[in-house]
Amino acid sequence: MNTTLLKNSQKAFFLLVLLLLFVSAAPKEEERPTHVPFLDVVEYFDLNYEFHSTTGTIKLAKENRSLTLQLGSHEVYDSEGRIYHMRVPLLLSEAQILLPAGGVDIIIEHLLRLYVSWEYVDATFNTYKGPKPVRRLDQQQREKQITIPSNSVKTVIIDAGHGGKDPGGIGYNKIKEKDIVLKVAKELERELKGRLRGVEVIITRDKDIFLSLDERSEIANSANPINNPIYISIHANVSFNTNTRGYESFYLSLEPYNDDAREVASMENSVLEFEIENYNDYLREIINRIVDIEYRRESMKLAELIQEGLEENVRNESLNRGVKSAFFYVLKAVKMPSVLVEIGFVTNPEESSMLQTKEYAEKIAKGIADGIEDFTVIFSQTEGFTK
Ligand SMILES: [Zn+2]
Repeated sequence: MNTTLLKNSQKAFFLLVLLLLFVSAAPKEEERPTHVPFLDVVEYFDLNYEFHSTTGTIKLAKENRSLTLQLGSHEVYDSEGRIYHMRVPLLLSEAQILLPAGGVDIIIEHLLRLYVSWEYVDATFNTYKGPKPVRRLDQQQREKQITIPSNSVKTVIIDAGHGGKDPGGIGYNKIKEKDIVLKVAKELERELKGRLRGVEVIITRDKDIFLSLDERSEIANSANPINNPIYISIHANVSFNTNTRGYESFYLSLEPYNDDAREVASMENSVLEFEIENYNDYLREIINRIVDIEYRRESMKLAELIQEGLEENVRNESLNRGVKSAFFYVLKAVKMPSVLVEIGFVTNPEESSMLQTKEYAEKIAKGIADGIEDFTVIFSQTEGFTK
């Protein structure tokens, strides 16, 4: 009995030393916000939740695990009654629930059972496996990617926005969005076919024809899922302010990034007006559809890489307006990672005349193609973002 006791205490001592070593070796916490919007956490990590307004409790669930939190409380309970402590409480501020950073850690560890670090910058979540995020790939890394492994993106769908009776945005000197985006989409098709061997490149329209949103998503969704298709919709922007310029990429979200993003979304969604006969059915179908945020993480990454690609090619000729999220019907109906790129403002006199030159259209196409290429490389290296 004595020897067992001794062994146990030795074991306990050994574990304690290990624990101390681990704690001292753990990376220092990055500077991060004390709270993050609860709904952003739910959306990013794809969690289920129930909010009981009478008691102010929130039950979060993932698979068969759950955690319970309460407004104003520092404590988090799991389904076995274990209690985890947050340094600051769960807050309600301006009709928004704010989750302490420590709560995010508890969710990641105990609900998701993941070992990732995270940051929340410019209202956007990022998680990282290691200490350093994946950044743009250098030429050497790109050249390694000569043969396409099985788990890779093998289909790219390029959607040229608007067309036919739907001109899209009307800009300076009556320049039409549908014409600008068709030129860039075709340039992008040529560029991708030239550099991505073994990848099928599909364009939704290569001439001035009208396509309904249903027809666009049908073209996209007819791609075999085994080919890991991705979807890039090309648009150009309008603004009442003729000085506004720059390019931005949107990924699908149920919550628009801000009022500007909401405006872009409602403008791009206005194509529904051209589809009077099935407008209501279409809308109902979308509203009734279960929230589908399966591809959000991939879409966000694709949007980031496209913005980086554009910035490298366009340099100071235009402005990087960043990655944003918005609710676009055309992206909602597409079952794959999808991004909507607004390549510039047709209402800005300089940008609109620049957008009409072959030289600038090529730069834009190259930038988007760089982003897509980087995405396909990372997709393969991480086996579809599973590693
Ligand atoms: Zn558009």
